[in-house]
Amino acid sequence: MSLSDLLEKFRSYSPSVDAGVLEKAYEFSKHMHRDQQRASGEHYFTHCEAVAETLLEFKLDLPTVAAGLLHDVVEDTPVTAEDLKAEFGEEIARLVQGVTKLDALQFSSQDHFQSENWRKMILATAQDIRVILIKLADRLHNMKTLNYLEREQQQRIAHETISLYAPLAHRLGMFALKSELEDLAFHALNPDIAAELGEKLKILTKNREGALNDFKATLEKVALPTGIPFRILARAKSLHSIYGKMGRQKKPFEEIQDLLGIRLITDNISNCYALLGIVHSHFNPVVGSFTDYISLPKMNLYQSLHTTVIGEAGDLIEIQIRTEEMHRTSEYGIAAHWRYKQGQQGDDRHLEEKLNWLRQWIEWLQDLKSPREFLESFKTDLELHQVFVFTPRGDVKALPAGASCLDFAFAIHTEIGHECFGAKVNNKMVKLGTVLKSGDVCEILTRKAGKPKKDWLKLVKTARARSKIRHYLREEGEAV
Ligand code: MN
Repeated sequence: MSLSDLLEKFRSYSPSVDAGVLEKAYEFSKHMHRDQQRASGEHYFTHCEAVAETLLEFKLDLPTVAAGLLHDVVEDTPVTAEDLKAEFGEEIARLVQGVTKLDALQFSSQDHFQSENWRKMILATAQDIRVILIKLADRLHNMKTLNYLEREQQQRIAHETISLYAPLAHRLGMFALKSELEDLAFHALNPDIAAELGEKLKILTKNREGALNDFKATLEKVALPTGIPFRILARAKSLHSIYGKMGRQKKPFEEIQDLLGIRLITDNISNCYALLGIVHSHFNPVVGSFTDYISLPKMNLYQSLHTTVIGEAGDLIEIQIRTEEMHRTSEYGIAAHWRYKQGQQGDDRHLEEKLNWLRQWIEWLQDLKSPREFLESFKTDLELHQVFVFTPRGDVKALPAGASCLDFAFAIHTEIGHECFGAKVNNKMVKLGTVLKSGDVCEILTRKAGKPKKDWLKLVKTARARSKIRHYLREEGEAV
C-alpha cells in the first residue's frame, strides 16, 4: 500500500483529522527498517504497511494506525522508546511500547487453563485495547506469510494463534478476524485435512449455487416493492469451525448443518422483523429454527434473527437478518465500538471517559457473564484488580493488585513460601514486600532452614499467604 493510498483510506473516514503524523510515521518506519528483510525476501517495511492496512480496515484512529506503522521499530531497529516519544509524542510511543512488551512474552504451555490465564494477562498487560488490536493485525500478517518460515516455527506460531490470538479476537467480538486467523492456522497445522475440506466446501458451494440464487431472485421480487432497503450477502462457515463441529458432533462433513447461508442486512430493527415476515410468508420456515437474538442478544452482544426456510427445490436455506450496525459489531467487534466511542474525542475529560470505558471492557472480558451485567458494569466505576506474574519457567499466576513477592511465593507452594528468603523480579534482587506488576517475572529464592517471621504479615496482601503464615506461627507457639 503506497503512502497516498494509505492517507486516502484514512481520510475517507476521518476527513477532519490532520494526517501529517501518519505521513511522518510512514517515512520514519520505512527509513529505520530500510536494511531489513522478511523471511519472504521482501522489504521488512511491507509488513508494517500490511499491519497499518488492516488497522485502516477497522477504521481506527490516527495514533493506532501510526503505531501500526511503527510497531516493530523499538524491537528491531536502534530506535528507543524515548526517541519515539520525542518524535511522535506520548500516546503513539505508549502504543508501540505496549506491542513491544507483548512481543517479549513467550507463550509455551499447551494447557487450557494456562491459555486462559495468558489471554487475561495479555489483556491486562496491554492496558489500552488498541495495543491488542495492533497485535492482532501484526499476527494476521505474520500468519499470511507463515509459509516462508521453517516447518517447526510454522507449527509453533500456528499453535499459539489458535490457542491465544483467535480466542482473543473472539472475545473481542471480531469474528471476521477470528475466522481468518483460525483458518490460516488450521492450514498450517493440518494441511491435508484443510485441503480436503476446502475442496468439499467448494463443491458444495457450486451445488447449492442454484438454490441460493433462486431464493435471492424471489426475495428481491417480493421485497423490492415494499421499499425496505436491504442487501444480500452469501456466507460460508470457516474450515476450522466446520472441522471443530465434525469433531464435536462426530459427524462427517456431509451431515454438518449451516455450512452455507444467506445474510440479509437492512437499516433498522423494525425492518429486520419486516424482512423476516416477508421471508416467512413466501417460504415455509423449518419448525423450531427461528431464534431472535435481537431481543435476546448473545453474551458477546451478537444480534441477529436466525431462521431456516425451505427453498423452491426443497433445499434448506439458512438465513440471518440484521441491521448494518449489528453487522459491523459482529464483524469488527470491539473495533466497531471503539470507532463509535471515539466520535466525541477532544478534551481530557473525554479521554478519561474513553479510558474508563476500556477498563470496563477489559474487566468484562475477564469475567463474561451476561449482556445485562455487562451493561450494568458501564455504570459502575471498576478498576483493574488483578495482576499476572510469571514464574521463571513461564507459568502465569493471577494475583490481586498490590500483591507482593511473598504472596507470589505462597501462591506457588506453601513450602516455597515458608522457605523463602529473597526474591528477584525481572532478574534484579528485590525486597520480599515488593509489589508485583503484570508481566513481571518473579523468581523466589529459598533455603531449607528458612521459616516465616511475624513481620511477614505486614508484607502480604492475599488471604492465602496470611493464613499460611499465621498457621505456621501458631504451630510455633507464637501469639498471632
Ligand atoms: Mn510485527
